[in-house]
Amino acid sequence: MMFERLRNLAVTLLFLGILSGCTTVSGPTKNFNPNVIPTAAIPQQASVAETRQVIIQELGQKQGMALSTSGPAYQRVNNLVRRLSQAAGLNGFSYPVVIADARDKVNAMAVNGNTIVVYKELLKRVPKDSELAAVVSHEVAHILLKHHADNTVKNRSVLVGVGASVLGNLATSRWGADTGRLARDIAGTLGQGYFVNSYSRGMEYEADHTGMLLMAKAGYDPRGAISFWRRANQIFGTAGNSAEFLSTHPSEGHRLARLEQILPTALQYYRH
Ligand SMILES: [Zn+2]
Repeated sequence: MMFERLRNLAVTLLFLGILSGCTTVSGPTKNFNPNVIPTAAIPQQASVAETRQVIIQELGQKQGMALSTSGPAYQRVNNLVRRLSQAAGLNGFSYPVVIADARDKVNAMAVNGNTIVVYKELLKRVPKDSELAAVVSHEVAHILLKHHADNTVKNRSVLVGVGASVLGNLATSRWGADTGRLARDIAGTLGQGYFVNSYSRGMEYEADHTGMLLMAKAGYDPRGAISFWRRANQIFGTAGNSAEFLSTHPSEGHRLARLEQILPTALQYYRH
């Protein structure tokens, strides 16, 4: 009897623990300051070379994408990244750029915190540089904010997995295997949603924020970010586009609302 009560208590505590995650994860990550663009550091040559290998293996060999580091698409993104790198204080260094042809997939990413990969289709759908700068500066901002080195998302995922399986085992012993599985699934999903994704969503907002200031400082009209997100559905939205760029899902509406709040500050950077 006593044991059962303890078990119920444990179940309740686990649920509370998982759910309370959502109240503690919305804070900023350690390098984020809303008023300051973090100073960039030139990445180690060895890590850039290693990243190049990862990109060739993962995108080129495994996913069959054609990769390029020359040509008009490359020049367009590289110019942009060069201007953003200078605005971030990287004298004479610009983050390496790789263009990936992934057919109709649309995406952009910062790999290992040192290389910018942009899918060709994105360039086609975003002909204006002020709008493209919104995406690319978001990726550069992830690098400046050192989000790649933040293990919190990984650690939280592990925690949720452990929490969900403990809860599942408890429920199984009390109510049988089906209920146990259900409890595990529910706890896993809730935990992932509230505890993990909300944290990475926070990173997305930070990258939007710092990215908007950075693009403005680099001389791109920050209103380009607003018009980009206004038509984000159209840009990312076709079937087959899993839009990994949107994978942690702050909704476009929320992103827009936040960017509109930052715009006056970004315009000051732009006009200077
Ligand atoms: Zn992002």
